[in-house]
Amino acid sequence: MQLIWLRSDLRLNDNTALAAAAARGPCVAVYLTSPAQWRAHDDAPCKIDFWLRNLASLSTALAELNIPLLIRHAPHWDQAPSVLLTLCRELNIEAVHANEEYGVNEARRDAEAARCLKAQGIDFHSYLDQLLFKPGSVLTRTGSYFQVFSQFRKACYSRLHLSLPKLIRAPARQAPTGIHSDLVPTEVEGFALPSDSLRTLWPAGENEARRRLDTFVDQHLDFYQSERDFPAKPGTSQLSAYLVTGVVSPRQCLHAALQANQGEFESGSAGTVTWINELLWREFYKHILVGFPRVSRHRAFRPETEALAWRNAPEELAAWKQARTGLPIIDAAMRQLLETGWMHNRLRMVVAMFLTKNLLIDWREGERFFMQHLIDGDLAANNGGWQWSASTGTDSAPWFRLFNPLSQSEKFDRDGLFIKRWLPELNDLDKQQVHNPLGGLFDRPDYPAPIVNLSQSRERALEAFRNLPTRQHAMTGKTGDQRT
Ligand SMILES: Cc1cc2nc3c(=O)[nH]c(=O)nc-3n(C[C@H](O)[C@H](O)[C@H](O)COP(=O)(O)OP(=O)(O)OC[C@H]3O[C@@H](n4cnc5c(N)ncnc54)[C@H](O)[C@@H]3O)c2cc1C
Repeated sequence: MQLIWLRSDLRLNDNTALAAAAARGPCVAVYLTSPAQWRAHDDAPCKIDFWLRNLASLSTALAELNIPLLIRHAPHWDQAPSVLLTLCRELNIEAVHANEEYGVNEARRDAEAARCLKAQGIDFHSYLDQLLFKPGSVLTRTGSYFQVFSQFRKACYSRLHLSLPKLIRAPARQAPTGIHSDLVPTEVEGFALPSDSLRTLWPAGENEARRRLDTFVDQHLDFYQSERDFPAKPGTSQLSAYLVTGVVSPRQCLHAALQANQGEFESGSAGTVTWINELLWREFYKHILVGFPRVSRHRAFRPETEALAWRNAPEELAAWKQARTGLPIIDAAMRQLLETGWMHNRLRMVVAMFLTKNLLIDWREGERFFMQHLIDGDLAANNGGWQWSASTGTDSAPWFRLFNPLSQSEKFDRDGLFIKRWLPELNDLDKQQVHNPLGGLFDRPDYPAPIVNLSQSRERALEAFRNLPTRQHAMTGKTGDQRT
């Protein structure tokens, strides 16, 4: 009997470990609930709920193939090896199969599980599945990890020209095992259930992920490059939560996009090229996580920026978290996060830069708050995004190029539709006033005054970066990323 240990790969189709386990003989699946570990990782309650709903959907799909899904409890990952070993002994398992996960705690857990199982004569097989390329396989000529995205992308293109990662078939139905599936919990203690309206936005299951992917590719992909920066438009795929949970794979996304663009990833439709670019950013940050494990330990990618004089400003931090900064685009974005568990990418950059530059608050505060609320919370992408915005990361925004939230607002939400969607109290303002209701004569009882002066706080941030002891390092970042 084979055991497939499911983690962030909650799908039947194109699942490397599941297909490998099923190819070797009858198999059983297991999922470990680990609330203490999830809490330590700041996983959001809406994210845990989304995972459980997807797991329930997968359990039904697995049952049709006679693959039972068992649920075991390992509150902390330290307990995972012994919980797995007990199960393997109970079921007389020959080998455990799992898709690789990246991050220091994940790697330590898997190494320990493999060691513990192998010591008892049980094989442990791990597979590349969450990424297109194995971390460590896309390197510079001198054998180190890429630190500049455009160079990484070029190397990925060369690999894709040689061969495309292949899709893997779902396993065939097996003979009944006589083992009964466990009920998937609908709730885990310590993680409150999200609102029904949030749940409705994110239906569970592989069919939903496929539907989103197909709809996006058919209707939006060609316009992605020109539409993706406007938060009032449905210009992006909204697949991130499904990718993080592994309900859809990056290979499925890549193949769907290529099919719409005659197999081209470097030319043809600008929308396709740009979207594949974003899939490669996802890839890049996961490679960074493995190549530079310090980013997994709350450390800045650029060590010299550890000396930045971040401000301790609890009231301003609270205003940012609670969407009452008095800057409509920031507050609207934060309300979107709080109410839907998701925020548009353009706005993630804008609110992150506002927190780390205008408020000069440590990026780790924002990173943590995002994780605690995002349905698509992902260590690599979240850390990468925060360090990009704070100019402490690899291939980051240069520290002297700050976004001005008002110009961002006027440029990307010109008519104020996004702002009004999330801040209905500003509905009566016209499209000029709505970006800055208190900037002129529009004193309002129902909306706060801005908590910070944008030009003074900009100067304060520049000064803090200028004062870094080795600022030339922070300044020289060759940036291949042209976001403005
Ligand atoms: C401060 C900050 C924090 C972020 N935190 C997360 C996070 O926790 N989880 C997460 O998945 N993404 C994160 N991102 C990246 C990006 O904002 C989201 O992936 C994107 O908004 C998801 O929407 P979508 O699925 O419609 O994306 P699309 O535009 O349709 O892109 C397709 C996919 O590409 C990947 N992708 C897109 N942009 C990026 C990027 N900049 N970095 C890495 N991958 C990317 C995602 O998997 C996404 O689903 C963060 C970005 C910033 C600036």
